[in-house]
Amino acid sequence: MNHSHFAQKLRNKVHESGDLPIDLRRKRLEKLRDVIRKKEALINQGLKADLGKSEFESYMTESGYIIEELTFTLKHLASWTHPQKVKTPLRLFPGKSKIYPSAYGVVLIISPWNYPLQLALLPLISAFAAGNRIVLKPSELSSHTSKVIREIVDEVFQDDEVIVVNGGIQETEALLKERWDYIFFTGSSSVGKIILKSAAENLTPVTLELGGKSPCLVEESANLEMAAKRCVWGKFLNAGQTCVAPDYVLIPRKHQDEFIKKIGSYIDAFYGKDIRTSNDYSRIIDEKNFDRLKNLLHFSGKIVNPTPDCREEKFFPPVILKDVTWDDEIMREEIFGPILPVIPYDNLEEVIRRIVSRPRPLAFYLFSENKKIKEEIIKKVPFGGGCVNDTVLHLANPYLPFGGLGASGMGSYHGKKSFETFSHFKSVFENGSVLDVPVRYPPYKSKLGWLKFFMR
Ligand code: NAD
Repeated sequence: MNHSHFAQKLRNKVHESGDLPIDLRRKRLEKLRDVIRKKEALINQGLKADLGKSEFESYMTESGYIIEELTFTLKHLASWTHPQKVKTPLRLFPGKSKIYPSAYGVVLIISPWNYPLQLALLPLISAFAAGNRIVLKPSELSSHTSKVIREIVDEVFQDDEVIVVNGGIQETEALLKERWDYIFFTGSSSVGKIILKSAAENLTPVTLELGGKSPCLVEESANLEMAAKRCVWGKFLNAGQTCVAPDYVLIPRKHQDEFIKKIGSYIDAFYGKDIRTSNDYSRIIDEKNFDRLKNLLHFSGKIVNPTPDCREEKFFPPVILKDVTWDDEIMREEIFGPILPVIPYDNLEEVIRRIVSRPRPLAFYLFSENKKIKEEIIKKVPFGGGCVNDTVLHLANPYLPFGGLGASGMGSYHGKKSFETFSHFKSVFENGSVLDVPVRYPPYKSKLGWLKFFMR
């Protein structure tokens, strides 16, 4: 099919029959859940081939995560889609007001390779639940999973409901030339800018789920043991290729050595002494990213735990960097891999100032046992979302909207917020035709007094 026709094909269908009927949405989403369950082994194979993901992580962060979101969405679909009555002020008597959730129409979803199934299907679920027709463009780098995604979508949806377009930059550029009613993009900040520019052409609303350098701040009063354990988990999950992974750690100088020792022991405890043979440790997506990570280490004399890597296997071991400063090369770009820089600090205020002066991070993690400091720092630091005394887990709660701000993106999703993201809310005021309060009509004469009485 010619690329310039996907949006139009779906839009014709929207014009013909409007938003997808709610029982059809339910039926398809139930089927999607069944098919994902049925194809779990195939999904695991795809994720293993692309990223060396373990079955456990594949379920926890991809298929299981999607199944949970589907169950949540199906449970709430009736109430979310129902028109909502709202109050009407007395001066509008005898009118009534209602909000009707409606679909945007035709949605383009573009997803990245690091959680290739989750980041493609999660927005798809809510876009569909909101009644939209969808074109999904998964990442070309996770090609095995992208194939499985197409297979799943083809089994569940009609081709005038959801279309999967597999391809890279060229295919995405062609899609961006079309007119969309909404674009949902997950990926890098640099491509995010391209998306936003092209959306501006048609005034298309967008959600941009981008990345950035998410700090992990360990404060004086923190439980160091727990901080080290949860940092290791969040950082080395999917070999550091997680948009909300702690990018770097800030630690009081006097605790640096002890903290790094604990980090080392948790890496051993989680993945064993010979990490290359661990089934639970992922691989880097491709050679290009492997080389990028290698280059990041090139000038760093600060490696604590030198371990051999293997380009052929795309095995990149966890690397800890000590005594890192804000000016080091590693502090420029999002790392997006298993390298953990540790920056020792002497003054908490100064650290906060530094974080605040940098681009807005997608996530922020604070380890502290001091109630007052916790509240103060959370209020002071701008960030998308985050955790206190943990990492990454804010994504696991469907009641917490997830998204960035500034350089880390715009808009948010997950749970009900996802449904809202893909819905336009039509506000409707309905008046009665019998009674007609005359205040608003000219000639106004002495009616201003009445107006002032009502509009206070
Ligand atoms: P990417 O921006 O390179 O690619 C994302 C998508 O855009 C892919 O489908 C790709 O085919 C397409 N694309 C790439 N270059 C393009 C171009 N020039 N024109 C049009 N389309 C193009 O990102 P990635 O490497 O796949 O993912 C890594 C980035 O994504 C990291 O920065 C990470 O932090 C971010 N990320 C964010 C989230 C989030 O939820 N906020 C989740 C995962 C990843």
